[in-house]
Formats: sequence, structure tokens, C-alpha cells
Amino acid sequence: MISVKISQALNLQMNREFYNSRLYLSMATYLHSINLAGAAHWMEVQAQEETGHAMRLYKHLLERGARIIVEAIAAPPQKWDSPLAAFQDAYRHVCKVTKEFDELVALARAENDNATEFFLQWFVTEQVEEEDSTDSVVQKFLLTEKANGEALFMIDRMLAERGK
Ligand code: MG
Repeated sequence: MISVKISQALNLQMNREFYNSRLYLSMATYLHSINLAGAAHWMEVQAQEETGHAMRLYKHLLERGARIIVEAIAAPPQKWDSPLAAFQDAYRHVCKVTKEFDELVALARAENDNATEFFLQWFVTEQVEEEDSTDSVVQKFLLTEKANGEALFMIDRMLAERGK
């Protein structure tokens, strides 16, 4: 049986992951509004992944016999100053989420919940990949600051290739 502390912490994280999905979807709508369909596609894929993360937590909670509470989701920001600003914001957010998972692992250890600690390792690895992939997009947009509009067009085409 899962402890109340772990159950509450994983419920909170599940709801945060639903927020993360909405945040990246909002970034996608901003990128569409400035005609960067490739970058928007990249964010749409990220938004779908975040829903998948929430559902992983949902499934774990169910399997452990916990009561799941689906909370209201706060409205994400709707506008950014530039595609670079949006991706920098996304990168900062990913780093924040990494910290949240580190804290969850620490809590699972403190509660001696080996099943949850093991379950959380998938997220720890996923966050490494997410920090890397998001930062690589930030670096590409930083290049466009020094280059011309053609570079921006090429980066947008590149981001459109992201697989589901
Ligand atoms: Mg996530």
C-alpha cells in the first residue's frame, strides 16, 4: 500500500504534468501565430508527451491502490516575445520539472517506497533527454539572432521533422 505522503506527491505531479502539456500547447499556438509551423509541431509533440507522463503517474497511482484527484489546471502564458524566448522559457520549465522529480525520488527513499523509487527512474532519464533536446533548440534559435531570415526558415523545417 502506498503512503499518504507519496500518494499526495504523485497526485500533485500528475496534475503538474497536465499543466506542462497545456503550457507547451500554448507555446505551439504562439509559434503558429508567427507562422513557425515546424517549431509549433515540435511543441505539439512535447505537449502530447507530457500528457503521456501524466498518464504514467495516473497508472502507477491506480496500480498502488491510491485515490486519484484530477485538479483544475491553471491557464498557461499565451504570448512570448520571440520563438527564442518561448524555447528558453520551455528549457527553464524542463529544469524545474527535473528538480521536482529529484525531490520525488528523495521522498520515495525517505518513505522506503522502493516501487515508487524504481518507477520514478524512467522520469529521471526522460528529464535528461528533455533538457538536452530543448536546449539544443534554444541553441539553434540563438544562431538565428546572428544570421538572417533564411536560417530561421531552415530551423523551422528541421523542427517539423520531429517524430511522434
Ligand atoms: Mg513531463
